[in-house]
Amino acid sequence: MSGRDKRGRFVKGHRPWSAGKTKDIEPRLSGGRRPGIPNYSARLNIEPEEILKVLQRTRNYRKTAKHFGCSKPTVRNILRRNGITPPKFERPRSVWTEERIEELRRMYPTIPTREVAEYFKTTEMNIIKQAENFGIKKIRKQHPNRTSTHKYCSGCKQWKPHSEFWKNKYGNPASECKLCNNKRKMNYVRRNPDKELIWRKRYYQKHRDEIIKKVTDFYKKRPELRKLYNKRWMKRNPDKYKAVRARREKRKKDGNISSDDILRLLIMFKKYGCCPICDKVVDGKRRAWWLEHDIPLSRGGKHELSNVIYDCNICNMKKGTKTLKEFCGMTVDGILEKVQKEVKEKVA
Ligand SMILES: [Zn+2]
Ligand SMILES: [Zn+2]
Repeated sequence: MSGRDKRGRFVKGHRPWSAGKTKDIEPRLSGGRRPGIPNYSARLNIEPEEILKVLQRTRNYRKTAKHFGCSKPTVRNILRRNGITPPKFERPRSVWTEERIEELRRMYPTIPTREVAEYFKTTEMNIIKQAENFGIKKIRKQHPNRTSTHKYCSGCKQWKPHSEFWKNKYGNPASECKLCNNKRKMNYVRRNPDKELIWRKRYYQKHRDEIIKKVTDFYKKRPELRKLYNKRWMKRNPDKYKAVRARREKRKKDGNISSDDILRLLIMFKKYGCCPICDKVVDGKRRAWWLEHDIPLSRGGKHELSNVIYDCNICNMKKGTKTLKEFCGMTVDGILEKVQKEVKEKVA
């Protein structure tokens, strides 16, 4: 079955969109497109005399079919159904005399095919076909930039060095330059946002270890970017960030420190007066007392007395997700011993 699509174009093998929707009994008499395309079956009611009239005027089945808003086979079928054999119209074919062939041989190799086609009043395809028949080879003009280092981009129609092209699977430069390729990709992504997500996920699953290694290496070189990224990530994923915080809070709750224990610890450090890591006075203005986990909660550290000390907020922020040993080479026990000793001496 063939029919017209929504835009009124005739499509082979297409179920007409109007089938069963509109019942337009009137056959179409005027040419050109019109918004309400008549029912496919209704077109079969066209009078054969009308068809013959139009056929004689146009001498062309395509134009006749267009006139009635149906397909070429439909026109022929209606005639056959009414006992009329569809007339044949010979199209005037161009005769290729010796002179014309000679002319083609002179023009085609160098002049653009479009101009040759205009001269012979046919299509470009016909010219190419005829030239092949007569064994005329086209002389391709080589671009001055065409070397082993340059290529013609089919997208932006420019000659560019090979470095401007992605490589295809054979290791040769692709047909489009990187810019054009990116443009096309971005266009596609804009039209199919869901597909891109799927691709990215699939790619990530395939190359997970590589990606993680690449990213960690990159941020090891530039730790300040890591902080920036973290901040942005928090802003972009507030829900995930909340989940991370919640996990941290839960670990805290799971630990068995009472508030009294923590208070006692804080009082001891306050008596000591200095941050045990940077040895600077914690006055509560520039520096404040912050609880510090030796092994961070995010790395599986526990919220227990054996894992916590107090330090200043600056050291706390600097330490980040390192352990005390990684950060300053001290241990919880060492710090506690030092602090207790000092406090005892002060009291005495
Ligand atoms: Zn390009
Ligand atoms: Zn400090």
